[in-house]
Amino acid sequence: MRNMKRILLIGTGGTIASEMTEGGLTPELTTEQLLSHVPTISGICTVDCIQLLNLDSTNITPDHWRMMARCIRARYEEYDGFVITHGTDTMAYTAAALSYLIQGSPKPVVLTGAQKPIGFDSTDSKVNLMDAFRCGAEDLPGISIVFNSRVILGTRAKKTRSKSFQAFSSINYPDLGVLRDGVLLRYIRQECGAKPVFYDRLDTKVALLKLVPGVDRGLADYLLERNDALIIESFGVGGLPEDSGLYDCVREAMATGKTVVLTTQVENEGSDLGVYHVGHALKNDLGVLEAYDMTTEAVVAKLMWILGQTRRREEVARLFYTPVAQDILWPVG
Ligand code: ASP
Repeated sequence: MRNMKRILLIGTGGTIASEMTEGGLTPELTTEQLLSHVPTISGICTVDCIQLLNLDSTNITPDHWRMMARCIRARYEEYDGFVITHGTDTMAYTAAALSYLIQGSPKPVVLTGAQKPIGFDSTDSKVNLMDAFRCGAEDLPGISIVFNSRVILGTRAKKTRSKSFQAFSSINYPDLGVLRDGVLLRYIRQECGAKPVFYDRLDTKVALLKLVPGVDRGLADYLLERNDALIIESFGVGGLPEDSGLYDCVREAMATGKTVVLTTQVENEGSDLGVYHVGHALKNDLGVLEAYDMTTEAVVAKLMWILGQTRRREEVARLFYTPVAQDILWPVG
């Protein structure tokens, strides 16, 4: 008999594990109950289960990301791969966060979930779970999301549909692979180390401000008073409205050691601050950081990871622009 791969299934909740209650869908099923819905898994790999959490992913926090990373770290040598079942709403944040907390993993760490609970007649849960196990048993290094037959790099995932089965997109980066009739066709193999490097510290004082036309500096002032970093989702390739007071607000905050990152509300193709007058001086005079082709989810998680290690401006900038799991490609090359 061939050697079966050993996979650890880590349950955290989400729709996949939900049942209908009077108050709406609520995660209630255990990981063992999830597994009982896909009995043919025993032909692919052996599975041990851990019920780490049972939460709607709206309730997931950075402390839970650290719990997941620690859970994998403690059992890394025992298993060939890890499957995490998770709600879809914040799965892209968790995938990004785990990409910074567990770097260079030669073993797969696969997140999956579903838009419909596993007990429903019409559900994407079973195929997603089976596909996640198949990927967990493959040579698929690093953190990825397996969903609706696609394999998406953890730093590039975004939830782009709230209801249909194709819930996730890979932003500014190709899919790592697809599953066809249960067979993984891998397009890209992530680079990895001989062993992963685990991190545990995160600075959660990172805020996000989405600009609207006519915005003034009040909200940015408020957020910067209470946080160590502010990500500003501006318009198009990036800039700040000239009469808003935001330019002064950013300069004052940076003078007190805060980090400011400019990104865009546009889903695809990223920022390019130097293009327009409204963005040019931000980059060249103030020295704000620029997200380029990163997802906002990855920027949030990367800043938490960086500020958990250092506050030195040059070091923050160096780490921010150093690619981790292909999270930023441009302008680095
Ligand atoms: N609200 C659910 C969650 O994120 C949605 C889902 O899992 O699809 O936990």
